Amino acid sequence: MLIIGGGFAGLSAALYTARGMKRGIVCSAGPSRHAPSLHPHGVLTRDGTPPTEFLDMAQAELDRYDVPRLNSRVVQLTGQNTAFIATLENGETVQARKIILATGVRDVLPENIPGLREEWGRGVHHCPYCYGWEVQGGPIALYQPGLNADHVQTLLYHQKISPDLLVCSDTTPDLNAVHRQLLHDRGITLIDAPLVEVKGTASGVQLTFADGRTSERSVLYAHGERVLNADLAQQLGCEATEFSITVNPGQETSVPGVYAAGDVIQN
Ligand SMILES: Cc1cc2nc3c(=O)[nH]c(=O)nc-3n(C[C@H](O)[C@H](O)[C@H](O)COP(=O)(O)OP(=O)(O)OC[C@H]3O[C@@H](n4cnc5c(N)ncnc54)[C@H](O)[C@@H]3O)c2cc1C
Repeated sequence: MLIIGGGFAGLSAALYTARGMKRGIVCSAGPSRHAPSLHPHGVLTRDGTPPTEFLDMAQAELDRYDVPRLNSRVVQLTGQNTAFIATLENGETVQARKIILATGVRDVLPENIPGLREEWGRGVHHCPYCYGWEVQGGPIALYQPGLNADHVQTLLYHQKISPDLLVCSDTTPDLNAVHRQLLHDRGITLIDAPLVEVKGTASGVQLTFADGRTSERSVLYAHGERVLNADLAQQLGCEATEFSITVNPGQETSVPGVYAAGDVIQN
């Protein structure tokens, strides 16, 4: 079993492969998507453990088993069920009967707002489940460019974290009178002037808008586009898009013998 990607999904797959008395090898290169986050949450028994520490502990657990791990990027995948060949970046090859693709995704963030990327995982987060409990009741913000009726439920959900919700829409929101009244009644602040800068502060972020207004917030929620890190699924002809790999309930892709796990299978 060749497991490509040594993040949370890949190392879990490696543990089960070893415990299932199957021969497995992990090839991984590059940081986990989790790397920028200081204190990830929601992982039983390890709530708040920094991601690098978490992955180091996972590696130490795997040391008890016979699962070789290569620090190398897979650049090419060819072959078919029971006879796959992976080419590594140094030109070496690995042969495998089965493949697990656990190469993760990357978050493509808007480039035109200085500070947004730099604060990713610190003052800027994408997931209120991962980072929300910590800032409950405080001043929070949501970056929702092109705000329209489809986003109203998302706004109301974020208000569960705190009633003090500022929404940055960059342009005039496309909302009807009923929705505008609802957001007004709920005390949600809308700023439609473009967000032009995000600065990290001791307690979160300072947001600056094109009209000169500024606001201090404990967190800014923003969503990047999640794009697959690798096109290995496509190389093998698996059904996949730029964003995710299609699997059946057994995690198998459309190509027999090729499985996928972790963020790569999310939409
Ligand atoms: C800012 C932030 C905060 C988050 N906070 C939380 C949280 O609090 N709680 C939570 O549960 N989740 C959180 N997440 C989500 C979490 O990071 C992901 O769900 C998780 O990392 C997915 O694990 P994975 O194994 O699928 O991918 P990853 O962890 O990204 O691992 C994939 C690995 O494969 C490697 N790789 C890619 N291409 C190749 C290749 N061609 N060859 C070899 N290796 C390759 C990558 O470099 C990486 O090391 C957060 C995400 C972000 C961005």
